[in-house]
Amino acid sequence: MTNLVTEVGAVAEQTPDGTAIGYEGREISYGEFWARTGGFAAALDERGIGADDRVGVYLPNLPQFPVAFHGILRAGGVVVPMNPQYKAREIGHLLADSGAKAVVTLSDLVPFVEEVREETDVETVVSVGGGAEGAIPFGEFLADEEFDVAQRADDDDAVQPYTSGTTGQPKGVQLTHENLATNAEASVAVIPDGIRADDTMLGVLPLFHIYGMTVTMNATLFAGGAYYPRPSWDAGEATSLIEEEELTLMHGVPAMYNDVINQPDAEEFDLSSLRLAGVGGAGIPIEVLRRFEELYDVTVCEGYGLTETSPVTHFNSPNDRRVGSIGKSLPGIDSRVVTEDFADVPPVERGPVDEEAVDLNEITGELVIAGPNVMKGYYGLPEANEEAFTEEGGRKWFHTGDIGYHDEDGFYYVVDREKHMIVTAGYNVYPREVEELLFEHEAVADAAVVGIPDERRGETIKAYVVPTSDADVSEDDIKEYCLSSLAEYKHPREVEFVEELPRTTTGKVQKFKLEEREVEAE
Ligand code: ATP
Repeated sequence: MTNLVTEVGAVAEQTPDGTAIGYEGREISYGEFWARTGGFAAALDERGIGADDRVGVYLPNLPQFPVAFHGILRAGGVVVPMNPQYKAREIGHLLADSGAKAVVTLSDLVPFVEEVREETDVETVVSVGGGAEGAIPFGEFLADEEFDVAQRADDDDAVQPYTSGTTGQPKGVQLTHENLATNAEASVAVIPDGIRADDTMLGVLPLFHIYGMTVTMNATLFAGGAYYPRPSWDAGEATSLIEEEELTLMHGVPAMYNDVINQPDAEEFDLSSLRLAGVGGAGIPIEVLRRFEELYDVTVCEGYGLTETSPVTHFNSPNDRRVGSIGKSLPGIDSRVVTEDFADVPPVERGPVDEEAVDLNEITGELVIAGPNVMKGYYGLPEANEEAFTEEGGRKWFHTGDIGYHDEDGFYYVVDREKHMIVTAGYNVYPREVEELLFEHEAVADAAVVGIPDERRGETIKAYVVPTSDADVSEDDIKEYCLSSLAEYKHPREVEFVEELPRTTTGKVQKFKLEEREVEAE
């Protein structure tokens, strides 16, 4: 295999007139898209950027993102995607750590990036026009169909995203051409009939994050479908776009699905054009999944993955799915559930299990992964790499840090992240079980459970709840409700109503912020 952009080049050659990108009523054909990536690659080449050079991409989800992304790869460079919400300190760290030589951004942001780069090795700031200009102008760049694709080997780095840094400094994740190409192909293959030329993909997942990058952008562009980026998440706007353009595919994080069903006019949306809705990035509460399916008659398929695995490792195919599970391992990807001594934990007969009725310690372990999608390593961090991998039988197994179990039918289940586990009075409690129960309460719109310091118990359980707008319920009612369905040690001894939960741009609850709040309040 060579450079992963050749996959888009092949589509452009076969169907130059097919739509690659749709934005604000305009369309970019594959022919034009390919020529623009060539023009961008040529411009980088003129600025002395080539093989292995890191290039920061500081852009929201606009048509410029896929052009810059594929243009950098076409020139042989390595994309360092940066969250467009990041401020100077965060960007400065990413640029310095990666040794980036250039940054691509919107014209309005050039002065800001110019200031940040002073502390780094960045030589050039490349402007790709303004956000409002959307699909048409692309800075000063001319199209160049002919620019030669830089030859890359399978295990050359292609993209270096950073972990979000919830546990220490963000780490650069080296993803190779093979990692990303195989995972985009696998993401296409798990959809019935694959992604077709007449498929249209909603692009609400942020492109700086691997889920949006591989599963929405690259999977669509490698398969010849059309990708519809949206620069920010707004449930009403996203559902209108699905209705107007009759989009056929979407992927989102659970918080997006929850936002849609909590819209006041949720029952009026017509999302019948969708043939599949994928969800991942965090476990989706079963209630949210069912409600979305019921309202819109579309199958919501849960998958699982991490930045370090490019990302997808498991998926519930619509023809073979089990609600409550993250699905089966994708073809070519191996997963195991192991104890601390790296011994295999046997499967249960059939999941999901009733977590109240089993001893979770007996059936769970850490989920570890091996396959062509697993990162080369953390950039310049030998110690972190030591911890992240176990070598056995010539294979490198990546430790996900997630606790789960599997069943005899090959489905996998994530109980929670190891680091979220609460130890209260000697008992282990996984917040997700309590959260699932909270979502079943009709007055609960959103919820998160954390452990808070407690002198007697070590930690005690606290639930943060966002009540629905018409809720007539007290914090004590919620406590009582949990107590009636959960073992006493698992029920939240504290409940606090809040207007919203702190979330990352990728829709995950920032539990560390809720925990810090408690420590500060002490
Ligand atoms: P960091 O690793 O820096 O804390 P992060 O959590 O945002 O950041 P990602 O790589 O984006 O890192 O997320 C991977 C994690 O998301 C997994 O380890 C898992 O905990 C969680 N996750 C993803 N999909 C699912 C799912 N379907 N069910 C449960 N958890 C999931």
